[in-house]
Amino acid sequence: MTLDETDPEVHELIQSEERRQRDQVRLIASENYASEAVREATGSVLTNKYSEGYPGKRYYRGQENTDSVENLARDRATELFGADHANVQPYSGAIANLAMYHALIDVDDTILGMGLPYGGHLTHGWGVNFSGQLYDAHHYAVDEETERLDFDDIREKAKEVDPEIVMCGASAYPREIPFAKFAEIAEEVDAHLVADIAHISGLVAAGVHDDPVPHSDVVTTTTHKTLRGPRGGMILCRDELASDIDRAVFPTLQGGPPMHAIAARAVAFREADRPAFREYAEQIVANSRTLADAFRSRDYRLVAGGSDNHLLLIDLMASRDMGGKKASGVLEQAGLVCNANAIPYDPRSPMDPSGIRLGTAAVTTRGMEEDAMRQIAAWIDRALDAADDDDELDSIRREVRELCRDYPLWTP
Ligand SMILES: *Cc1c(COP(=O)(O)O)cnc(C)c1O
Repeated sequence: MTLDETDPEVHELIQSEERRQRDQVRLIASENYASEAVREATGSVLTNKYSEGYPGKRYYRGQENTDSVENLARDRATELFGADHANVQPYSGAIANLAMYHALIDVDDTILGMGLPYGGHLTHGWGVNFSGQLYDAHHYAVDEETERLDFDDIREKAKEVDPEIVMCGASAYPREIPFAKFAEIAEEVDAHLVADIAHISGLVAAGVHDDPVPHSDVVTTTTHKTLRGPRGGMILCRDELASDIDRAVFPTLQGGPPMHAIAARAVAFREADRPAFREYAEQIVANSRTLADAFRSRDYRLVAGGSDNHLLLIDLMASRDMGGKKASGVLEQAGLVCNANAIPYDPRSPMDPSGIRLGTAAVTTRGMEEDAMRQIAAWIDRALDAADDDDELDSIRREVRELCRDYPLWTP
């Protein structure tokens, strides 16, 4: 029996979500549209199988298909990223980081990562997260003037706190991350360098962002952001760390691996290994730059002055004297979905920060290019000017839906 017959309530919610994803312009930088092939693998019978362990070393019988699936996913991942070893089992990006820490260091050891308020991630040592509670976590910021990574400052911090791990990578940093510079610092203080490329892994795979793999001991990532795969995490590492990493994922932290999502990772890695994906990644960056130019020409202040990757941050307090919470609500009413985001050295609270974050990965998957980006910037500007005008916001929402009709969700 199909879902609409057995559970009309859940069926209708999924249908409604599909309509929402179709009719709105989705600008949340961590989101994307996975392909039909990825979703088919995710919904497959592999969800029925228990496969604790690794290919050739499982605890249960009946693994002739699952072993091949996981080997395909691992081989495609190492090929795509040029890494020695891949663990494709982590349930999520956060769990991938938990496993990485567990493999490399002990509780109370020192880590140095980018602070959350400057664009870093919770799992890089923030206090409300396990990483800030289990480890002695210290943070670097961005330069207050340029809002870019300041390697003199990072080096000074590293020498001061003498970390076992230097973390690099971010969730809200619009500029390129030069991994070799981090590697130099990590070497000077005899620390492991870990690059968390959760956001930019699609750009890295396509070769349109600096490559962390040659410079890092471990690279962690999600598979569902710019990489456009199923929801999940992955760890890449040098050969000598492979058995520690694998053991940290299973049996230390996880039980049976999500074989359906591992099959879907394999599908996504293959999709990302095609010339069309390189063009996709190039278009993501071109779209982000075009969006940035369109806002600059309307006198919006962009954090770090613009974008080298798939995202940009707008300082809305400076630009329109409006907080990010109100702005993201107004934009949602107009069919433009993004998130409120802190800007570096934000004087406002994280619940209602000074900015919004916009990403181009999802709209680029739909086939939108530069003209659509200029249209989106124009709508955002109009919507913010009409913040309390429901009629105007509704009218923008109708125009947004019209544009979305021209860009079907997937053309396989
Ligand atoms: C999104 C993100 C994660 C966490 O991924 P989840 O799958 O949501 O747990 C980790 N690190 C960075 C830098 C991220 O942006």
